Amino acid sequence: MVLRPHHFSAVSKRIITPAFTRPLSTSPRFFKMADHKNENNKRSRGDEPHQYQASSRTDREQDQWKFRAPYTIHDKGENFDVKWKGKCHCGAVQYELSREKPLASKYCHCTTCQRMHGAPFQWAAIFHKEDINFTNGHHDLGWYDPTAKSTTHHLPCKVQCAYCRTPIMDEGRNMILLFPTLIEGINTKKGREAFAAQCHMFYPQRVVDIKDGLPKFSRLADESDLCDEETGEVMEGTNPKKDKEKEKKKE
Ligand SMILES: [Zn+2]
Ligand SMILES: [Zn+2]
Repeated sequence: MVLRPHHFSAVSKRIITPAFTRPLSTSPRFFKMADHKNENNKRSRGDEPHQYQASSRTDREQDQWKFRAPYTIHDKGENFDVKWKGKCHCGAVQYELSREKPLASKYCHCTTCQRMHGAPFQWAAIFHKEDINFTNGHHDLGWYDPTAKSTTHHLPCKVQCAYCRTPIMDEGRNMILLFPTLIEGINTKKGREAFAAQCHMFYPQRVVDIKDGLPKFSRLADESDLCDEETGEVMEGTNPKKDKEKEKKKE
């Protein structure tokens, strides 16, 4: 029988074992190989506590991250008001959200997001770390810190399913930026409205023009100059944060 992709997903559920779900980057063999190639390799050696995510244990010092938001393991029957549910492509990682609408939703056109998502831009919805409850797959998460190019759980970092590699969220120091396309019901009117983006950021790095009438920031949202809707050119002196600072000085 020829194994087609949809067969694979059915088969893979059956053959998933801890060995398979362990992120490649944390397997001892991977690090041995990497070290051998480059003695001065500054990347993670996998010896930081958070690198032991590929284990169902919760009793060791290195498992403590599982008890902290956004990864807190909630007790069964604990009151978590579920408003949305989300999952990665293979289904190993599943979560619930207790907030009806994200605190904010943005499109990021920076080249890091383009490369890491294999997409023209990133769509991110901001939530408090306490708004998410992982119901499955704590042990199937992999981390990547794009600044250090390391797989340690150093914030801010990207969080993926370690098995199917679906990007789950960006974990910041205080907030999480979830990728709404993982959410059940996002393709409905209710989903589109709840997660509708308020602005674009890093617009000058775009690979596609989006003339949707939303504010287009040249760098970070709400604290950089805006771009012209028609031409995409950066409009100097339009940074709303600087305007606010000026007003404060006047007062
Ligand atoms: Zn997955
Ligand atoms: Zn970005």
